[in-house]
This record gives sequence, structure tokens and C-alpha cells, in this order.
Amino acid sequence: MASFSCSSRVCVLSLPIFSLSCCVCFVILNEKGRMGKGGMMTWSNHATQGYDGSVARCWKMGGGGNGLGVWPGMRQLCLRKSLLYGLMRLLSTPFKTLRTAGRTLKVAQFCSVSNTSSTLQIELVPCLKDNYAYLLHDVDTGTVGVVDPSEAVPVIDALSRKNRNLTYILNTHHHHDHTGGNAELKARYGAKVIGSGIDKDRIPGIDIVLKDGDKWMFAGHEVVVIETPGHTRGHISFYFPGSGAIFTGDTLFSLSCGKLFEGTPEQMHSSLSKIMSLPDETNIYCGHEYTLSNSKFALSIEPKNEVLQSYATHVAHLRSKGLPTIPTTLKMEKMCNPFLRTSSPEIRKSLKITATADDSEALGIIREAKDNF
Ligand SMILES: [Zn+2]
Repeated sequence: MASFSCSSRVCVLSLPIFSLSCCVCFVILNEKGRMGKGGMMTWSNHATQGYDGSVARCWKMGGGGNGLGVWPGMRQLCLRKSLLYGLMRLLSTPFKTLRTAGRTLKVAQFCSVSNTSSTLQIELVPCLKDNYAYLLHDVDTGTVGVVDPSEAVPVIDALSRKNRNLTYILNTHHHHDHTGGNAELKARYGAKVIGSGIDKDRIPGIDIVLKDGDKWMFAGHEVVVIETPGHTRGHISFYFPGSGAIFTGDTLFSLSCGKLFEGTPEQMHSSLSKIMSLPDETNIYCGHEYTLSNSKFALSIEPKNEVLQSYATHVAHLRSKGLPTIPTTLKMEKMCNPFLRTSSPEIRKSLKITATADDSEALGIIREAKDNF
């Protein structure tokens, strides 16, 4: 199977006539390719749903064998921000004309990986059962980092495919399913491990300790460290303002938040509020693919939320194709995630949360209900 990245080969979404200067392309690597039947129709249907509005997905072509393998062989997705909803409908035609079975299309000129603020590519690397690690690749310098490598092998494989080295390991928190690959990756590549100073004794191989508000530079990209305790006391999130991306680990998931292992509802509410203060267009890269099961709980306590209904359908569709639901957007989460909707009358009624309960109390009750769901 041929593979490519936005920078080098294909992003058909980025046809010049649709070029927008404010676009960012992300490459997302999906571990398991899958052949879908009627791929073109499926792709088109998916794309036009436009649940996140600001994110359009450009599936990898090639390796399908039937000439319409759009879902198939889906090792990479090319995400582009700020594409219009209607654009997706138009793309099915050029897709058909450009696509031939088993052929890699070299239309690099169509894909503007960078915009004025970012040349950062983000690749999703599925790990373990439902974890995601993320490879960060600075196009200009070739610098590569990885966020939360729960295991080394899938990360090594992803790096090897593109003959890349690894400079940094970023950990959102100390849990083994976020740091399990640290030692092997550090030994193999000499990468520096970065994490919260609060967890310096619990993060394997930590070299650089950071705290809330620190601004660390990743190959010229500003990274703002946001302490987001609640799941663990030392949990941090990495916000890349230039790319409009945040890595939230086990603090904020799509349609849920992390379990409160070492924190209180007040802490989690405070952490989520920090994330909610970011721009709505921010792409959320979380630590797990939990969205489908989360959607069932969310619907159970806010069944009349029509945006949630649509998103849940969209998520089920993606998962039925073996596709990731990540990244999500802050805008979508604000509309659908019960832990960001603690003042929703419907949620409060469902869980018998009194009107006098504040948002932290409500969050605690929602969390408890989910723990028992
Ligand atoms: Zn965790």
C-alpha cells in the first residue's frame, strides 16, 4: 500500500480553487486500514454531514483495489480547517476523476499543509486497545515529538515509515497507558521527556519539567502548558495556539471527561473551564477513543439535544468504518459534552440536580452517574 503525507503527496480537498489562506492541514495516521464498500458514497455522506463545521476530512486514497477505495486503506486523513460545508459535495467529483486503483496521486501542490501560523502536522497513532498517541512533525525543521506514547512499537513503526527521528516525548500525565513507551523511545532515539513538575517522580525518564502557564517552544511552535488536574493531580494539557490544537490527555474526551482518580469535581470543573476559554475552533486531541460509548451516556441524560443526536449518529458511522472520531472541536463539545453542559436544564432534570447546585456539584453528580452507567 502506498502511503503519503499531505506535505508530499495528496490532499485532494486542497484543490487550488478552494484554497483558503487560513487553512491548516493535519495528517492523521490511522493504524488499521479498512476497505469499505461503496467508498465514494460513504465518504461523500460523511463529509457533507459537517458536524464540526470547521473541519473537513480528506481520506487517503490508494490501495483500494476497486477504484473507489476512499475509506479503505485509510492510513492517513488529511484534515483541513475552515473548509466550507458545501465544498465537500463538490469534492466527490474530482475525487472520482483523480482516483485510480492502487495509484498514489501526486498532487502536493493542492495541499497547503501550512498556513501563516503553523507548519505542524499531527498524526494519530492508535495504541493499545483504545489509546491514541500523536506524532507532531514540524515540516520546516523535521523535528518530531510524540504525545502520550502508551507503547513504543506503534510509534516506532510510524516513525520508521517516514524515516524520522524522535526529539521529544510529551506526557499529559503519569498513567502507564500514556507513558508506557517513554523508556524504550528515549533509549532508542535519545528523545527528551517533558511533563508536569508535579509528577516528576511518576513520569518515567522525565527531563524537562513544566508548570501551568509555561510557554515551551516545539521547533518554533509555541506550546502553552495548562495545568488540568482532576483525573490526576499532575495532569497538564498542551495547547498549540498557532495550530489551534490542544492535547487534553484524560482530562477532556469527546463527550466526556476523565475519571476523578486524584481530584475533586471542583478541580475538574476548573480544568475544563480553562479549556473552554480557548477559541471554539480549537481541535481537541484526547487520549482515548471513547466517543461512541460516551455518546450513549450523553444521550441518556440529554436525549432532546438535537446536535448531540446528530453527532452521536456521526460518531457511530465513523466507528462502524473503523475511523477515529478525534480530533473533535471545542465548539462541538460545548454543544454536546455533558461535562461542559452542567447548567443544561435537561441534564439537571434527568439527574435530579437541584437548581441551587453549582456547576462543580453538577459535574460531580454527572461524573458519578457516568461511573455507574
Ligand atoms: Zn489516565
